[in-house]
Amino acid sequence: ACSFYCPVGAISEHSAVRRTLDVLENKNGKIVVFQTAPATRVAISEEFGMEPGDVSTGKMVAAIRKLGADMVFDTNFTADLTIMEEGSELLDRVANGGVLPMFTSCCPGWINMVEKLYPEFIPNLSSCRSPQGMLGSIIKNYWAEKMGMKPEDVVVVSVMPCTAKKDEARRDELKTESGLPETDIVLTTRELGRLIKLKKISFLSLEDSKYNNPLGESTGAAVIFGNTGGVMEAALRTAYEIALEKPMPTLNYTPVRGFEGIKEAKIPFGEIELKVAVVHQASNIRNYLQKIKDGEVSHHFVEFMICKGGCIGGGGEPKSLTSDYLERRMKGIYTIDEKQTVRKSHENQAVKQIYEQFFKKPLSHKSHKLLHTHYKNRSKKK
Ligand code: SF4
Repeated sequence: ACSFYCPVGAISEHSAVRRTLDVLENKNGKIVVFQTAPATRVAISEEFGMEPGDVSTGKMVAAIRKLGADMVFDTNFTADLTIMEEGSELLDRVANGGVLPMFTSCCPGWINMVEKLYPEFIPNLSSCRSPQGMLGSIIKNYWAEKMGMKPEDVVVVSVMPCTAKKDEARRDELKTESGLPETDIVLTTRELGRLIKLKKISFLSLEDSKYNNPLGESTGAAVIFGNTGGVMEAALRTAYEIALEKPMPTLNYTPVRGFEGIKEAKIPFGEIELKVAVVHQASNIRNYLQKIKDGEVSHHFVEFMICKGGCIGGGGEPKSLTSDYLERRMKGIYTIDEKQTVRKSHENQAVKQIYEQFFKKPLSHKSHKLLHTHYKNRSKKK
């Protein structure tokens, strides 16, 4: 099933490594900017003999710098931004009678599934781009100009746990006005490992390095995007506080955590009870969508991830020999969240700043242009 939703196979794996080496070795005056997804930092370790779930964010950033990147940004920044946009979209749909349930849109494997097999659910999808799509857009359309560069002077390389993100980066909707892809190359976590080995960088002896700011600043809410239930938990932390003007009683919202295929929860939300669900893996998704069609479930907001466990189980993550690697990666992600001083997306100072200076507010005209997208019916039934 995975190869159907993740349409990019081994051939482009080779070409992404070769293309990255080529842009790093022949910059021709261009700036090479990397971004790394939440689930990469608890899995890259395994490429170098460490244990699943060992957190090596600092070493990964240091290795990318050694490879020759000019800037290293964090996809977690736009995970926080996704929460601002998607949370606002949900509150708007609930208040104004929009299409419900609203479905998350950050997993391109899931988007492929809806566009190809369930186009009738396209109106349920949030219009938010994935965090990769948002950051590529911000780098080329906003950051480049701020730095006095043109979009074509910047090469964006993203490191993802995911093979479907390669396909996503080629979408027409994710191109600049002049038709350039906003994300030029997508490397999987495994491919980044291969690149680091190819350049004989001694990963284990690297000193930790930090992301560049402001597009490297993020919260605990962003990193949990890597686990099934993470987007939901992050969204609830923010939507609850914004809508009810008080913090959630607990930040660790356990009903949406863990490996159960379909998780459901009800949260008292002012005058309504917000009903949410979290679904991962294609077979569970098919079952859940059938339940909607049969009128057996009615939630307000549903998170979908194609891979088991979410992105920590992505097809681009290292192949693990340990049987409990998913549990250990999941734990690694929650450990990062718990150690963060800021754990709510709306408290990310760099996110606040980009709204003040540029987007003005969630769902603004500029946000719609750079952070949102639309979907196509790609089914044969059409
Ligand atoms: Fe990619 Fe899998 Fe994560 Fe979806 S769940 S974004 S297919 S790694």
